[in-house]
Amino acid sequence: MKLSAPELRERAAQAREQYASCLLCAHRCGVDRRSGPAGICNEGDGLWLAGAGVQLGEEPQLVPSGLLLIGGCNLACQTCETFDFSLERRGLTAVSPEELAALLLDLQRQGASNANFVTPTHVLPAVLEGLAVAAQAGFALPVVWNCGGYESLEALRLLEGIVDFYLPDAKYGDDAAAFELSGCKRYTAALRESLAEMHRQVGPSRIIIRHLVLPEGVAAPEKVMPLIAGISRDLCVNVMSQYRPVFRAARFPVIARGVTAVEVRAAVAAARAAGLQSILVDGRPAA
Ligand code: SF4
Repeated sequence: MKLSAPELRERAAQAREQYASCLLCAHRCGVDRRSGPAGICNEGDGLWLAGAGVQLGEEPQLVPSGLLLIGGCNLACQTCETFDFSLERRGLTAVSPEELAALLLDLQRQGASNANFVTPTHVLPAVLEGLAVAAQAGFALPVVWNCGGYESLEALRLLEGIVDFYLPDAKYGDDAAAFELSGCKRYTAALRESLAEMHRQVGPSRIIIRHLVLPEGVAAPEKVMPLIAGISRDLCVNVMSQYRPVFRAARFPVIARGVTAVEVRAAVAAARAAGLQSILVDGRPAA
């Protein structure tokens, strides 16, 4: 974080104004969230956590990572792996800015190399409030924004000078699939705008883009990889093979199974064909 604690407090206050007419993500609902849950994410102005702790898996550059699993989501993926706390809001605890700050300081004490906020965009103001309290008390870890690639420019600009590393998804290269499977309109345009702004803020070496391979090429890697390369061929893409048909996947026959090695290789080939220079598969350099 480049901002000082007073600057963070000021930014958090500026961010809180978003709750009066929320444009925090590309759904651009424009609703007032101050008096209770509203908008497509159905969130109010509080922060709810499903858990926090130091994690040793995933991208090697970011471990040990201090994960903060945030409740709720601005997307509604029919195949969500964390649907219990992201969509059904089960097992969540309300967390004040002071409590979030205490958790952040605890992750720092435990040796985490960063604070990795998972799915945080819909509660960005509340996250910044906690960071401001933590910074005042000596919190100094890099901040990772682990998000869905469906942010708004308004939200991302509030993060400039705060986020050190972006970890966005690039879920789809096809808008029809994005709408059917995640309820997002104009996903690819929003993804392009989000990636361009992240790139402007931190450059290509501090962004890893995750692409979860779906069965039958439904996520359209042959379209999403050129979209990414159009921002910069130096952006790193992590092709992920872990898809399992969970939550409501059974309602969609085309994604009602896991992915094959052939489908994963096709996504890697699409990244290579697009000219991307840095390709990971499940966090390790592609063979
Ligand atoms: S965060 Fe996104 S989905 Fe939620 S109210 Fe704001 S614009 Fe709508």
